[in-house]
Amino acid sequence: MKPMRDQLDQLMNGTALSANYEAMVKQAVADPAVQQWLTANREDLAADAVTRGAAKIYEYVSQRDEKAAGQPGFAPGYQPQLVVSNHLIDITYEPTAAKIAADKEAKQAALITSMNMPKANAQATLADYDSTPERAEALAAAFEFTNALTKAPHAFHQGLYLTGPFGVGKTYLLGAIANALAAQGIASTLVHFPTYTVELKEAIHDQSVQQKVDRLKKAQVLMLDDIGAESLSPWIRDDVLGIILQYRMQEEKPTLFTSNKTMAGLTDFLAGVEVGNNEGLKAQRIMERIRFLATEITVGGRDRRNG
Ligand code: ADP
Ligand code: MG
Repeated sequence: MKPMRDQLDQLMNGTALSANYEAMVKQAVADPAVQQWLTANREDLAADAVTRGAAKIYEYVSQRDEKAAGQPGFAPGYQPQLVVSNHLIDITYEPTAAKIAADKEAKQAALITSMNMPKANAQATLADYDSTPERAEALAAAFEFTNALTKAPHAFHQGLYLTGPFGVGKTYLLGAIANALAAQGIASTLVHFPTYTVELKEAIHDQSVQQKVDRLKKAQVLMLDDIGAESLSPWIRDDVLGIILQYRMQEEKPTLFTSNKTMAGLTDFLAGVEVGNNEGLKAQRIMERIRFLATEITVGGRDRRNG
């Protein structure tokens, strides 16, 4: 490689270059980062590399400075980098740290299917879940479940049945678990169960019931939010919930629940006790499946919704 000075001179003498462009290229080549790179790669570069690569150097410096000024440049999310290619100077565009992080986040978000869940839940993390004494057991169980499933994604792991009053953070904890699992590449489907049952009843007319039920049956991890808050219907109980849970029990698929009702309260609800029925046997069949799939854990503390 010729001394840098010679190459610069040669460049400046090129008659084809307009004076303005010439000045800009000269400035680009003289840029400290460029000079440092040229020195570091001196051995690998051809004698006329700077002259022939002047346009690349100029592109590198101008794109780098545009990005530094907060402009997108012509490859948003990518950062220019000088490289040696066949002993000449070339430029590549590498994803920025911000783009890598955004891509990772998008990939993780794609692992979570939320059906009618509160928007804020998407940001929930186990780390942010303040562990008051009334919530410590639930948080510990959430960590345990997440770790166990991550270690052995294809083995059966009993999920959680989170019960407690409104506003204590049951739904939030589901979101936090889903995010922790997504970070490990495990997909979750979160469903607000009462809304789902309404949509299912509407779907009878467009024949998509089967497909809607299948989505829940086959979800890698299923989280049913607010079970027991739907309006009681034998069809939903026996032919929807019963079928979904039966399948997940047989296939040993992780399933989590939240409810304002305890398991005992849910048993009465499903039996129709609240509306004067006594379908205890049918309720028991559902409860057996829920008990197989999940452990009951009480969540307490203040109502975070109203202060
Ligand atoms: P539940 O499902 O028990 O009725 P939620 O999970 O909906 O309660 O929580 C009630 C409110 O408190 C929501 O707005 C939720 O985002 C918020 N919340 C719950 N736990 C936390 C937490 N650890 N950090 C921040 N916000 C929380
Ligand atoms: Mg809730």
